[in-house]
Amino acid sequence: MDKVSIVTGGGRGIGAATSKLLASQGYKVCVNYRSDAQSADAVVREIIASGGEAFSFQADVSNECEVVDLFDATENAFAPVTHLVNNAGILFSQMSFADIELERFNQVMSSNITSCFLCSREFVRRVKSTGAIVNVSSAASRLGAPFEYIDYAASKGAMDSLTKGLSLELAPRGIRVNAVRPGFIYTQMHADGGEPNRVERLAAQIPLQRGGTPDEVANAIVWLLSDEASYVTGSFIDLAGGK
Ligand code: NAP
Repeated sequence: MDKVSIVTGGGRGIGAATSKLLASQGYKVCVNYRSDAQSADAVVREIIASGGEAFSFQADVSNECEVVDLFDATENAFAPVTHLVNNAGILFSQMSFADIELERFNQVMSSNITSCFLCSREFVRRVKSTGAIVNVSSAASRLGAPFEYIDYAASKGAMDSLTKGLSLELAPRGIRVNAVRPGFIYTQMHADGGEPNRVERLAAQIPLQRGGTPDEVANAIVWLLSDEASYVTGSFIDLAGGK
């Protein structure tokens, strides 16, 4: 059976590393992006040049209709989706809780957890037999991100609960749902938080004394999706250098 995957926010960072690794292991990959078509297309070109199968698809995964379009497009290009990586996520500038505006809070929730709900629901409605979902949560769900982005941490806490609940609902059907909780990974996301060198600043406080790479996170995601993890569901892999 074809292994057909969607990686939301697959054009850069952890999503790009995951898309490439999945393709190298024989998955057909839909590289979803919201605004950065150039990066997503570069990932697709690299996959195809290495003999893999992929296409990019623009969709805001916090939008119900666009999520349906994303799954339709993938099904038309390949076959029904068997593996889903809910990776898309955003954060905004570091600030104290009291300064967080409602509009920002709602945007973070919508991009980080509504997107996960919509994509997972679409997956569940369509998946035929076995399959797997990996949610890209964050160490922030455990650490809370005080004075930085409690809104972001709360969205990831919600993702952890969704992971647990959905894994229990889907277990009798043999569909596995797990999450990774990265922290301090070298990607562009920290620039969006207003501190491009955040990982370097925090490195000394991380037990392993360094930040992590997107490839290190992708390895865990792809393992959780694979048959090697066939008895793993409702589980969380922390990738935060021991923090
Ligand atoms: P990144 O480089 O900023 O990538 C985020 C990706 O998400 C982008 O490709 C972006 O697409 C996409 N995206 C955001 N909102 C979207 C939406 N509504 N619809 C579709 N795509 C959307 O960040 P990253 O560090 O690789 O983050 C990936 C995931 O890891 C996120 O969920 C993040 O919370 C999580 N994470 C990261 C770290 C870290 O230290 N970097 C730590 C813990 C967890 P466009 O560019 O096209 O807009």
